Amino acid sequence: RFITPEPESPREEKLDRAIRPSSLADYTGQPVVCEQMEIFISAARNRGEPLDHILVFGPPGLGKTTLANIIAHEMQASIKTTSGPVLEKAGDLAAMLTNLDAGDVLFIDEIHRLSPHIEEILYPAMEDYQLDIMIGDGPAARSIKLELPPFTLVGATTRAGLLTSPLRDRFGIVQRLEFYNIEDLTTIVHRSAGLMDMQMTDEGAREIATRSRGTPRIANRLLRRVRDYAEVKADGVVSYEVAHAALSMLDIDPKGFDLLDRRFLSTMIEKFDGGPVGIDSLAAALSEERETMEDVVEPYLIQLGFVVRTARGRMATPLAYRHFDLPPPGSGNG
Ligand code: ADP
Repeated sequence: RFITPEPESPREEKLDRAIRPSSLADYTGQPVVCEQMEIFISAARNRGEPLDHILVFGPPGLGKTTLANIIAHEMQASIKTTSGPVLEKAGDLAAMLTNLDAGDVLFIDEIHRLSPHIEEILYPAMEDYQLDIMIGDGPAARSIKLELPPFTLVGATTRAGLLTSPLRDRFGIVQRLEFYNIEDLTTIVHRSAGLMDMQMTDEGAREIATRSRGTPRIANRLLRRVRDYAEVKADGVVSYEVAHAALSMLDIDPKGFDLLDRRFLSTMIEKFDGGPVGIDSLAAALSEERETMEDVVEPYLIQLGFVVRTARGRMATPLAYRHFDLPPPGSGNG
């Protein structure tokens, strides 16, 4: 699967770190986010203050973690990374907070998955740089208050709507990442190929970009597989023909849809007459997690206009029918 957020292997994770941009100048695309962040970062640096807390949201693989690391780098600060589901106990968060130095970035991925009692510790930490926790339980329990160094919390989530409003309200800066256009993805593929010492034509890079679902992580994944193909089946150079053949072999169709995207669409059409169908019924029919459908699969299909979300459920549009060479309902010939 190319579209799921988890790394395919520890090796992939390592390769990925090697090509991950570390400065805003190398962060391709996202012009609105880059322009704003440049201003906020310069202003904070000039004042010698930490940056305000930042919430970054958008589908997996669009660069939330990368942006958090860039922010720390540009602020010349260290970054400590954790995630919502990992922070189970109050002590886990307290340990992270008390280990921060002034100006550091604390990155919490999947911040919508924090448990409520951890969220409550975060509120005074974000607002007043104060840690306020209970130690022990029963009659011996006591509450302690600690001053924390000023820090920047960067929270990442797939959808801003998943956050509770008291948490959302405590972020001074909210950035939404958009799917990347083909030009930006072509630039990303070229840059990664350069770092991986690969030879590639413009058309080859563009072909990979076109089939990457608007997502840099997928572009880099496909690039690695195309490299294997080019080395074994061709002379190592990624031309349009080589990229095209490799991606077809990987079952990525010309729209960049993989098997899961196609199953999502064909199930809507074949089992639910094109909808409207609720996301739970659809996930059950596909034997997949609802969250994967909502966070990973559906956003891109909606962006391309293959699926629409209505009050009564999801519906496949005529574009989806045409993708499978099927006549859309009501077209008179089907
Ligand atoms: P997320 O945290 O949103 O799931 P990541 O930050 O892990 O996504 O991004 C996945 C990979 O995609 C990164 O390792 C990086 O190589 C690449 N990437 C993401 N955003 C950009 C960008 N704007 N420019 C270049 N490469 C990017």
